[in-house]
Amino acid sequence: MQTAVDHTLDIEQIRRDFPVLDQLVNGKPLVYFDNAATNQKPLPVIDALTRYYEGYNANIHRGIHYLAEKATAAFEASRRAIQQFVNARHWEEIIFTYGTTDGINLVAQTYGRRFLNEGDEIIITTMEHHSNIVPWQMLCEERGCILKVIPVDDNGELILEEYEKLLTPRTKFVSVVHVSNALGTINPVKTIIDMAHAVGAVVLIDGAQATSHVDIDVQALDTDFYVFSAHKLYGPTGMGVLYGKKALLDDMPPYRGGGEMIKEVTFEKTTYNEIPYKFEAGTPNIADVVAVKTALEYMATLGKENIAAHEHDLLQYATAQLSEIEGLRIIGQAKNKISVVSFVMDGIHHQDIGVILDQLGIAVRTGHHCTQPLMRRFNIAGTTRASFAVYNTKDEIDRLVQGLHRVKKMMS
Ligand SMILES: *Cc1c(COP(=O)(O)O)cnc(C)c1O
Repeated sequence: MQTAVDHTLDIEQIRRDFPVLDQLVNGKPLVYFDNAATNQKPLPVIDALTRYYEGYNANIHRGIHYLAEKATAAFEASRRAIQQFVNARHWEEIIFTYGTTDGINLVAQTYGRRFLNEGDEIIITTMEHHSNIVPWQMLCEERGCILKVIPVDDNGELILEEYEKLLTPRTKFVSVVHVSNALGTINPVKTIIDMAHAVGAVVLIDGAQATSHVDIDVQALDTDFYVFSAHKLYGPTGMGVLYGKKALLDDMPPYRGGGEMIKEVTFEKTTYNEIPYKFEAGTPNIADVVAVKTALEYMATLGKENIAAHEHDLLQYATAQLSEIEGLRIIGQAKNKISVVSFVMDGIHHQDIGVILDQLGIAVRTGHHCTQPLMRRFNIAGTTRASFAVYNTKDEIDRLVQGLHRVKKMMS
């Protein structure tokens, strides 16, 4: 099955950029379909990390020596690259965090604790990752706020009429996932944001799954906050981004206290630094921040629309092939999806599926995907999830299909 898309990206060439893919697992060539958990890193990103440690490792901002200045320049160049990547108006609106989870906690613990009060309502959705549920529950417990949840329909799409009913003048915050990690659904976030703003609520979008698949433009979205993790966009682990509108960030109290986030410290009174540094206490993850810029450049070289087209092709192929397996049911059939296929099989536990596929060298994720309320909504304990990245191929999907036939034979 050839399409025009296969001609634009040379997938075999791209695979050579990802050394981890070239190995045998249980005697079989590795098929890596766990990209929604974290995707693999191309050589240029790995090289950027090595170059940093071999060439200019130093602590940033306060140093006046050559290495410190070089490290600082690379660190701040990454901030500008991310500003461009999400199209933020100001570079100060880009806060480095340790990941999506860290970014959401930062907003809940600073904006939330300062501006949300008893009886205020926070809206999330049924398809949130635990990291966009628990920080708000913690806040609600502390501040007496009320958590409300937008339901999803059988296809795995948000029911916007129900969202509309939840919105009231008491709605102060709306926190919604851009793309579901468990279902692949791409949510209509622009509409969700506009509806929230119409009642005066502030909005956070969890972009963890979106950044490597869809274009991000925080100004066009007019979102107040946008968070994501580098390790899901071909970058290193332990590094993430919080985008926030400058006026909001300026008004928020600091999060962690320590070095870098202060202007002046005395035992009587400490004054805080400006954004973004106000929120970046301590020595940051310098090497990983530096390498993110390389990850963005790598994606830009391939072309995000080419990546998306290839992945869409894989999604359609996988959906068609898997649908032919008797007793297999795909969970999440939204019209607008990224390349994630979550499924259950009649009478076979997802864990057994995962173990057998692993014996065949195929890495998938099984379980609740940190979305237990969503699993409950579909009356299932978990799913098997195959998620595709730019380096995956239709041959690999064929191997998954063969593997699932093997599973059926072994488990029946
Ligand atoms: C992975 C993920 C998170 C959490 O990201 P971390 O990097 O683990 O902090 C949050 N939301 C979604 C949708 C995710 O896919």
